[in-house]
Amino acid sequence: MKAALLKGLNYFEIEEIEKPVPSDHEVLVKVKAAGICGSDIHKMQNEWKYELPMVTGHEFSGVIESIGTEVKKVSVGDRVAIAPLIPCHECTYCKSGKYQLCENYTMIGSHRYGGFEEYVTVPEENVINIGENISFEEAAMIEPLAVAAHGVMGLDPKLGDTVAVFGLGTIGILTVQWLRLTGVKKIIGIDIDPNKIKEAMKYGVTDTINSLEESLEDRIFELTDNKGVDIAIECAGSKITEEQCLLITRKGGLIGYQGIAYSDVLLHQKAFENIFRREYTIKGFWNSYSAPFPGKEWIHSAEFIEQGKINLKDLISHRYELNDIQKAFNLTVNREESYNKVMIFPEERKEEEK
Ligand SMILES: [Zn+2]
Ligand SMILES: [Zn+2]
Repeated sequence: MKAALLKGLNYFEIEEIEKPVPSDHEVLVKVKAAGICGSDIHKMQNEWKYELPMVTGHEFSGVIESIGTEVKKVSVGDRVAIAPLIPCHECTYCKSGKYQLCENYTMIGSHRYGGFEEYVTVPEENVINIGENISFEEAAMIEPLAVAAHGVMGLDPKLGDTVAVFGLGTIGILTVQWLRLTGVKKIIGIDIDPNKIKEAMKYGVTDTINSLEESLEDRIFELTDNKGVDIAIECAGSKITEEQCLLITRKGGLIGYQGIAYSDVLLHQKAFENIFRREYTIKGFWNSYSAPFPGKEWIHSAEFIEQGKINLKDLISHRYELNDIQKAFNLTVNREESYNKVMIFPEERKEEEK
């Protein structure tokens, strides 16, 4: 079978490798669609900490091709999405249902082969049955959708709240879509890319701010009767926006950090003092899991997609076949053009599979 082997920083080779065989509690998935994640791109730009060669890809979907002898919940032919975290189930965090904090986890696509190949074996408990109505590329986006859900569920916005979302990339837009479903009054989308700001209007953002072109604080206070937002959610992962959250949230407000800080975050005195002077509650969100594994984030994501309440299709900006994975990564790693979700397909795509 064909696999895209990562052999160095942003260096892939397509090779024929042996088709894996599922162990007793595993299933063999024929991959149908696999997305490139922002974290994949970051790893290609900086450092790859895991073994090489590796087959990356942790956002994928497919059809179950065969099952191990002990597999009970799914059958051959089932259409599935894959939750990529394999928790140890033994550490304190796993035992309390906080799988995202596991001390000894395995990640599909980093520690073991992921979705950028034709067939992958995964544990039975990592598959989510998607039924017949969700397309494979939508199912490949359940992972980022579950990440966004984890943050929004943890912040638990109230009817009528005003929320600022920093960063209108995939996670930001998915966060906006969850927020819209919670009944918040205003969703203020903040970014520095005019294309992303324009796109965000389609998904339920009520106001937008281009923080390169206008004063963020002035505009926020204008939009909130000089109070600041009830909730700020950071999905950009920039040291500037990590600090800005602390400047534009109202007294007693809530701040959620979800974007990875890829450099040191230095706080000015005012930003830091606001934490206690304004009595902020600050929450961090990592990954997308809760008990029972993989968690409500995953189950709700699949159900809401099926009900047509979440729009994923328009977020896919580029589609490539597996043979062209290098082109796909070059596009994202070198920022050759504006992109959102980039999808990889291991087999030649027929029109009806879109
Ligand atoms: Zn991801
Ligand atoms: Zn654990």
